[in-house]
Amino acid sequence: MGLIVQKFGGSSVADAERVMNVARIVTDTYKKGNDVVVVVSAQGDTTDDLIAKQMEINPKARKRERDMLLAAGEQVSIALLAMAIQKLGYQAISLLGWQAGFQTTSTHTSARIKNVDGTRIKEELDQGKIVVVAGFQGINRKEDITTLGRGGSDTSAVAIAAALHADLCQIFTDVEGVYTADPRKVKNAIKLKEISYDEMLELATLGAQVLNNRSVEMAKKYGIELEVLSSLTNKPGTIVKEKPKMEKMIISGVAKDCDIARISIKGIPNEPGFAFKVFSKLSAKDINVDIIIQSVGTDDTKDIAFTVALDKGQEAIDILKANQDSLGFRDIRLHTNVAKISIVGAGMESHAGVATKMFEALYNNNVNIQMIATSEIKVSVLISKDDADRAVAAIHDKFF
Ligand code: ASP
Ligand code: MG
Repeated sequence: MGLIVQKFGGSSVADAERVMNVARIVTDTYKKGNDVVVVVSAQGDTTDDLIAKQMEINPKARKRERDMLLAAGEQVSIALLAMAIQKLGYQAISLLGWQAGFQTTSTHTSARIKNVDGTRIKEELDQGKIVVVAGFQGINRKEDITTLGRGGSDTSAVAIAAALHADLCQIFTDVEGVYTADPRKVKNAIKLKEISYDEMLELATLGAQVLNNRSVEMAKKYGIELEVLSSLTNKPGTIVKEKPKMEKMIISGVAKDCDIARISIKGIPNEPGFAFKVFSKLSAKDINVDIIIQSVGTDDTKDIAFTVALDKGQEAIDILKANQDSLGFRDIRLHTNVAKISIVGAGMESHAGVATKMFEALYNNNVNIQMIATSEIKVSVLISKDDADRAVAAIHDKFF
């Protein structure tokens, strides 16, 4: 018996039937003698629908107003869930982010949590209530409503778990856990019993889309054990923690990321300083660069290619083109038909030939590699987007 934080994503509370289903899960947990804090997202596609409503009126409106708008989505779901729990005969109270003590930085639409003051939540728990908290939102120093960025309610849940020293933080979603590949695309994908924070972080940022990466960073920092599981089936999910006990798998997953673009610059003067000048211009505009390749070109010139987030591609090109004279390159191009495929696994550190096996799978399937990047626990390749699903399946087959 202890304190359990349970988070339910938008698909888990999409309609009345699903809200009642969540109320049942929550009250079952409560009946076993636990204190329960529930964090919910907006129902179904509510957040997207609210954004569409803004777009009809004023796409350039102040971000403060955008936060005011989007926070309304979660207000609906906490009220409905608290009502559903009451209908089952239990006490429940719904709290908005600010009522639950979420203090954030001022940056509207991508605020960071500074502190969670758990006083109110604790008072309500002490009275025997199930506390239902709006994810994704908080309040800044000016007492304006802020939001944490898309997918932010995972982070809300982990922050509450950390602030209240919860015994477990369960993230309910529409998949049964973390798989070795996207189970909707790869039929023989395997559900992992456990995975480390570091591997999960790589998979989260690489586009596995089960957990928001900031939530995993925070769980690692505060040592919060997470369980990812489905709200629709009653099966154990995947535990995310520091040191998984299971026999070390060499690879824990294959991930695909299509939100990526490649920029290639040709005919660069072969002298010091170019990389510094290019990447400082991009970082000044908050454009993150991922994989970088530089080659020694011919005729005293060299080439550089690198990747950026897909939605930053054109902006990066514009910035560099505007500086073409001072940078002195001949040609720049944007390639958007690309995907990054990565294998992640803590066991890689101690095993040779892992990358080779991945390259072999690609070769056997006639997939051309444009770029390669490695770290201690991952190998990523950039390939054509047209080959992406085929490549994931082939690599997955090779390792599992
Ligand atoms: N409702 C918000 C979104 O769709 C937050 C979340 O789902 O975590 O981004
Ligand atoms: Mg959502």
